[in-house]
Amino acid sequence: MQIFTKIEALKAFLKQKRANKQTIGLVPTMGALHAGHLFLVESSKAENQVTVGTVYVNPTQFNNASDLDKYPRSIDSDMELLEKGGCDALFYPDNQEMYAKTSTVKIEFGDLDKILEGKFRPGHFSGVALVVSKLFNIVQPDVAYFGQKDFQQFKIIEKLVAELKFNLQLKQMPIFREPDGLAMSSRNTRLNEEARKKAVVFFQSLTEAKKLLKQGEKIARVREIVKQKCEAIEGVKLEYFELTNTENLKPVESVTDKTVLLIAGFVGEVRLIDNLLTNEN
Ligand code: AMP
Repeated sequence: MQIFTKIEALKAFLKQKRANKQTIGLVPTMGALHAGHLFLVESSKAENQVTVGTVYVNPTQFNNASDLDKYPRSIDSDMELLEKGGCDALFYPDNQEMYAKTSTVKIEFGDLDKILEGKFRPGHFSGVALVVSKLFNIVQPDVAYFGQKDFQQFKIIEKLVAELKFNLQLKQMPIFREPDGLAMSSRNTRLNEEARKKAVVFFQSLTEAKKLLKQGEKIARVREIVKQKCEAIEGVKLEYFELTNTENLKPVESVTDKTVLLIAGFVGEVRLIDNLLTNEN
């Protein structure tokens, strides 16, 4: 695996690959890699001749300085995992390389960036869109791979690609989970043993909610049950729990084959998100 910290060096490497008619898959990450990330790499490898993984903790998508400060970083093991996973190139830039001067560009998405994650993390999606746009321009991939774990983020990136006419295909990969159901996340490494056990409540809430809704329970009652379930555990704070349409993420009253349950909350000071499509078993 070749490691690049400079944009121009990575571009030169990829220019050569493109000249040889090799297709390029991009897997953007913030590092502290787990099996979910590695599946994105595996998927890219299966469909492209060249896979570029990126590890960059993007400051503009953090609305909370302590969250940015405490975001897990483990570049040595990330490099090892990417190498073992067969990644061809790693792009690992610093802030100077990505944002030479203070960033002034803001990207808005109408209603989509004001709800759910956007409501609780103002400016988050503008930062995501900015860094993803930079990565798309630098790498010019044929295909870019993202996870369903960040459900709203994928919708935002779909809009970004469609409206700014990025010439690439987007693929969304399923959520990888721990054996008890907790969605894999870099942030899980910040949970101590006790908090780790509590964290599964978000997945359990989603599965219970789905079951109740399918049995015909009203969403208002389900919301109450989820709230109580989460708040019964010390240190767990529910931020939101919603049943929405899978396309525009607007709240809906009942499950269809185009609805998704989304949840976010804190275990101690660690913020976690998860979601569950209602049309899957
Ligand atoms: P992150 O490093 O958390 O920004 O995530 C990088 C990419 O990996 C994003 O497209 C995420 O949606 C995806 N991802 C994160 N967690 C998971 C997971 N548990 N399963 C599948 N993909 C994931």
